Amino acid sequence: MTQRPVCLITGASVGIGAACAELAAARGYDLVLNYRSDDASAEAVATTCCAAGATVHLAKGDVAEPDDIARIYAQVDDNFGRIDALINNAGIVGQTARLTDMDHARLHHMFAVNVFGAMLVAKEAVTRMEAQGTGGAIVNLSSAAARLGSGGQYLDYAASKAAIDIFTKGLSDEVAPHGIRVMAVRPGIIATDIHAKGGEPDRVARMAPLVPMKREGSAMEVAQTILWLMSDEASYVTGSTLDVTGGR
Ligand code: NAP
Repeated sequence: MTQRPVCLITGASVGIGAACAELAAARGYDLVLNYRSDDASAEAVATTCCAAGATVHLAKGDVAEPDDIARIYAQVDDNFGRIDALINNAGIVGQTARLTDMDHARLHHMFAVNVFGAMLVAKEAVTRMEAQGTGGAIVNLSSAAARLGSGGQYLDYAASKAAIDIFTKGLSDEVAPHGIRVMAVRPGIIATDIHAKGGEPDRVARMAPLVPMKREGSAMEVAQTILWLMSDEASYVTGSTLDVTGGR
């Protein structure tokens, strides 16, 4: 079995998850990289991580589907037999809409991916980390939207990320006696494709001047914060949710 710590990253084919994968590989982790659909991008991320010295296994699957979560963890168990860190990153936004234009299917899918998926992925990590008895680190992806509410844009997304904030606190209390630290980051306006997927390809350019630092953030700036939280340098940090927003 590997001597390097093992990290599972969900949503690692592009954006913040891909940046986390590349940084984690450079920092000495072996990796299981989950993604939902973009085979070519996931394979490119895996190639980069392997070049940095990591052993990498891809685990395609939808975190909203419990059977897929089981398949993702089969990649962890079969290839590494342990897990030391989880970056609980997979997430979606919907199209810009008011609540009056959101139906049950939209709300259900939002929470199935962003909340239930994240909770069940974390559950499987905690189960294994507790059995290993060597602690671990979990970083959940929240959003500045959890504070701002995103009224008139996508308040379903904001509500799902607010759930992640309090889930982070509750889980951190539950597992702290086992040496498992649980944190979250709240990215602000970060230059990834998620904005275009939500129907707003110009959102970063439009919003960046409104940020106190007068610019958007990069996926790598979020990844650097996440990798710090996972590291021994943050050994007395748990239950915290850290804004990565340029002051927004
Ligand atoms: P992104 O560029 O859209 O990437 C999303 C990643 O998640 C992709 O790898 C995608 O896989 C994967 N994914 C989506 N749905 C999934 C599912 N059901 N199961 C498994 N994987 C799934 O997004 P991002 O901007 O990097 O965002 C990453 C996280 O940061 C999200 O939780 C997001 O809410 C949060 N965040 C982002 C920002 C921002 O400004 N970018 C701000 C605040 C918070 P495929 O592409 O292969 O389908």
